[in-house]
Amino acid sequence: MTGPRFRFAPSPTGFFHVGGARTALWNWALARSMGGTFVLRIEDTDAERNRPEWTQGIIDALAWIGVHTDDPHFEGPYFQSNYAEQHVAAAQRLFEQGDAYYCDMTGADVEARNKAEGNQGYQGWSRNRGLGPGPGHVLRFKVPAGTTVVHDLVRGEVTFDNSLIEDFVLLRGNGTPMFLLANVVDDMTMSISHVVRAEEHLPNTPKQQMMWEALGHEPPVWAHVPVLVNEARKKLSKRRDKVALEMYRDEGYLADAMVNYLMTLGWMPKGGEEIQPWAQMEADFRLEDVNHSPAFFDLKKLAAFNGDYIRSMSPAEFLEACRPWLLAADAPFPADRFDEEVFLAMAPVIQPRATTLAEALGVVDFMFLAEPAIDADAWAKATATPDLVGVLRSSSAAFEAVADWSADELKAAFEQAAEANGFAKPGKAQAPVRVAITGRTVGPPLFESLEFLGRDETLRRLRNADATIG
Ligand code: GLU
Repeated sequence: MTGPRFRFAPSPTGFFHVGGARTALWNWALARSMGGTFVLRIEDTDAERNRPEWTQGIIDALAWIGVHTDDPHFEGPYFQSNYAEQHVAAAQRLFEQGDAYYCDMTGADVEARNKAEGNQGYQGWSRNRGLGPGPGHVLRFKVPAGTTVVHDLVRGEVTFDNSLIEDFVLLRGNGTPMFLLANVVDDMTMSISHVVRAEEHLPNTPKQQMMWEALGHEPPVWAHVPVLVNEARKKLSKRRDKVALEMYRDEGYLADAMVNYLMTLGWMPKGGEEIQPWAQMEADFRLEDVNHSPAFFDLKKLAAFNGDYIRSMSPAEFLEACRPWLLAADAPFPADRFDEEVFLAMAPVIQPRATTLAEALGVVDFMFLAEPAIDADAWAKATATPDLVGVLRSSSAAFEAVADWSADELKAAFEQAAEANGFAKPGKAQAPVRVAITGRTVGPPLFESLEFLGRDETLRRLRNADATIG
């Protein structure tokens, strides 16, 4: 594949962060719409923090949001740890051409000198000492004087004063490459033309650009995308916030909804309509239109997106989407009691009442449980109804007399009973009936639920509740 080359370069050190997912999606949209390539590079050089299962987690999570390894625009995954020789060779070249030098000072040495001489930072102390490689010698990049101007598609032109950038380490004392070097050398080797990544990497960019230039390459197009923040406008953090994409997937967020929402974090789709199909967003997305202020990762808005996507599914699509939960070991009801026809018929009343798929099954579990558990709070609320037993008995009698077991007739029968028996508030009197039938105080419309549940089971549950109270 010719055309621009983008890359996504996660470090497999934990769950897949929603911010990483957005970065991946933006790169993916660009690679595809520009007829280019999306390179996946797993930056696995921090042996202590990496685990193979995190790498698989990244690949699975990417597939979930539509970044598939078998797509013609996809290349990789490459593993950074396989390229250590090239990283070292590049460092060697920098040394040979005079852009890097060895240094034998330890961190403690630097600190001691700073203390004694009132200096700050490293200050190029070994620049002119002519040291060669040796045990404990680090290789440092010789930062040139002047300024470094980074042209960033999101942030505009950012100028860095080189005098504030110390001669940074390329190779550690044991000869292993530092991350910044590995990252640049891989981008060069993989002919990356566009580096689109999180804003937190911007301070590294002048250093990386100097390396690109010193190694005789035109730097890539840079784009540093805004951070995601929580409600308190603090950067999303693993410890504080729910950041793992996998958790949303497991709770029953739909991939399409998640993708759509992530795309809009810092970017407004054309025309201002946020709910958009992927193909449209892919075609319209431009880095130039990305806002550079932090983007609020709003859980309520995400839930609203998800609810919207759930509502727009056909019953059959909805059933398919729910299937993993239905088949799970901890399914909300036994598989042999599940009835697809009933579920499909109820879908239109469930879909508007759930923001996640997991929640959706809670809305209908009463249909498929032999004996839905009545939660204590719900029962306490329901039993606050004046003349509870009277309400249960007269509605039972009214339902029993219904000729055609349909929501409309059940409703009419209930209302007549309410009037005849002087229920204080017929609306409230529905509550104990609902609790007796579903175990909950909220749920799908009551009379539709009774229709689906059927005459025998409805009457049995009402009798049961009556007996329990009696
Ligand atoms: N591996 C780095 C990270 O996960 C990404 C560096 C980059 O995109 O240049 O933060």
